[in-house]
Amino acid sequence: MMRLVLFGPPGAGKGTQAQRIADAWRIPHISTGEMLREAVASGSELGRQVRELMERGQLVPDELIGEVVAARLAEDDAGGGFLLDGFPRTAHQIEILDRVLERLGAEIDRVILLNVPDEIVTERLAGRREVGDQGQQRADDNEETILERLRVYAEQTEPVADVYRKRGVLADVDGTGTVEQVFARIQGLLVEVAG
Ligand code: ADP
Repeated sequence: MMRLVLFGPPGAGKGTQAQRIADAWRIPHISTGEMLREAVASGSELGRQVRELMERGQLVPDELIGEVVAARLAEDDAGGGFLLDGFPRTAHQIEILDRVLERLGAEIDRVILLNVPDEIVTERLAGRREVGDQGQQRADDNEETILERLRVYAEQTEPVADVYRKRGVLADVDGTGTVEQVFARIQGLLVEVAG
């Protein structure tokens, strides 16, 4: 069983690595950012509630995203494991996740922290805005919002890693280098977890 959380600053390459991990271990990739972007695109009630906050680079309310995650984790395909990407992101979201997992009789096996220095994160996010990288282009990839997302990460999300470190489930991974290099590091530690 593989129940994982992937964690790291905006621009750390979480989305790319998450997709590879999910494919390799045949578990659903549950990205709260993706789910929220889909909600905004579809013009649903949830989308209307979160659009402005997302465009500003701010977090949506914990209870709101908590409901979305609780519903998603209760779906059949998450019963055999999952990879959470972008959640939990605040101390309160850890509590929400703890409650959801308790109800499901499940526990997180590993929290993977992708470590990438600030300079590289800023470079990557700036690169994503350039013409020619349409695949990754996002409404929240403008300069002002990027700075806000990095600030929010440092202030609200970094402390989440400490909680999991104290619980002994955090695994630090060097997020620099090529996509393949980073993925190989992650695979190295997941093989141990599975073993
Ligand atoms: P990033 O690359 O900045 O980490 P994500 O795709 O994970 O981006 O999330 C994009 C936006 O969606 C965030 O800036 C935030 O507004 C919202 N969001 C995603 N996950 C959460 C969450 N767990 N709690 C609150 N807001 C979230």
